[in-house]
Amino acid sequence: MKNIPVAGPWITQKEIDYVTDAVSNAWYGDANMFHDRFERAFASYVGTKYAITLPSCTSAIHLSLLALNIGPGDEVIVPDATWIASAAPINYVGATPVFADVDPKTWCIDAKSFEQNITKKTKAIIPVDLYGNMPDMNELTAVAKKHGIVIIEDAAEAIGSLYKGKKAGSFGKTGVFSFHGSKTLTTGEGGMLVTDDEALYKRILFLRDHGRQPGDRLFWNTEVAYKYKMSSMQAALGLAQLERIEELLAKKIEIFNWYKEELANCSEFELNFQSPETRNTYWMVTVILKESSGLNKEDVITELKKRHVDCRPFFYPLSSLPAYSHLTSAQQAQIKNTVSKRLGNYGINLPSALNLTKEQVQYACAQLKEVAAIATTAVTT
Ligand SMILES: *Cc1c(COP(=O)(O)O)cnc(C)c1O
Repeated sequence: MKNIPVAGPWITQKEIDYVTDAVSNAWYGDANMFHDRFERAFASYVGTKYAITLPSCTSAIHLSLLALNIGPGDEVIVPDATWIASAAPINYVGATPVFADVDPKTWCIDAKSFEQNITKKTKAIIPVDLYGNMPDMNELTAVAKKHGIVIIEDAAEAIGSLYKGKKAGSFGKTGVFSFHGSKTLTTGEGGMLVTDDEALYKRILFLRDHGRQPGDRLFWNTEVAYKYKMSSMQAALGLAQLERIEELLAKKIEIFNWYKEELANCSEFELNFQSPETRNTYWMVTVILKESSGLNKEDVITELKKRHVDCRPFFYPLSSLPAYSHLTSAQQAQIKNTVSKRLGNYGINLPSALNLTKEQVQYACAQLKEVAAIATTAVTT
């Protein structure tokens, strides 16, 4: 039996045709034809003025911080529960990450914890639209505004998600997206930065091309900067995927609804939350095991793997990772951020690949229920 994949794309003939077109024709004077189309279509989709194709979401966060002049001595607040890519660029620029706790329902950064972590050094916040859900953007933007803190929205996992009708990625000074192979829209590897700010847009174009303005004198660099560009084959793949975005999102929501149906009567599992004012696009369908069930996350994942169901652990709190053990801010966060800790201990991402069938989801749920039942019996007897 083949493993049921935890993540993976949905590729059709359209994607193959566009990439074939790019590899055949996007050279010489036409080298950027797919970048231009992808960027224009993407900005229009998210509802921002500008979009810049990049090699990754990590580079999009790095460039956002650089363009906003954040560096040594500055602090940037990130949720404790996220992938390290949200925080690592803070270290690249020499600033210090500060880890705020998340909301127990949305699993996204909690506005109160955000405010409690603000100091004189705080320059920015990077809220994360975790697993396709949205944080309380009204409260976050109010707190940020009150303290003069800039928002970089990490929408890597949330293309197409909505908060009060507004698209994920459009809430900050910049919004950043990932097109990694596991993400809802993929280019293999890739990313996008969106913004409404023209000066910032120009500065980022400059920084991502070795410190020269587009159209400048050839080989004339006025600053030492970075080389962060996407290839035309990736841009072509991204454009094809974006033209199918509603279909991709509908499939993600359908997969979530299959799980919801199958796990409807299981009180030992809590699934992704959807508030009436958001559209969750469920990048990863996730269950949080109840502490009282006595289930151990690692054991459940190992047992499901044996049954050909691929799962992933919920992100461990960044403050608990060896990579951040040297930071005082991490040591403090480990004590304070009880929600991130509980989610990290009890959360499991279930198979959410775009090519899943209903039968596969039914099989995965049956296995999950069986594993949980065995474990619970073992605990109570
Ligand atoms: C995937 C992901 C990233 C990083 O994306 P890359 O394209 O791999 O750099 C950043 N933040 C979050 C929340 C992610 O899930």
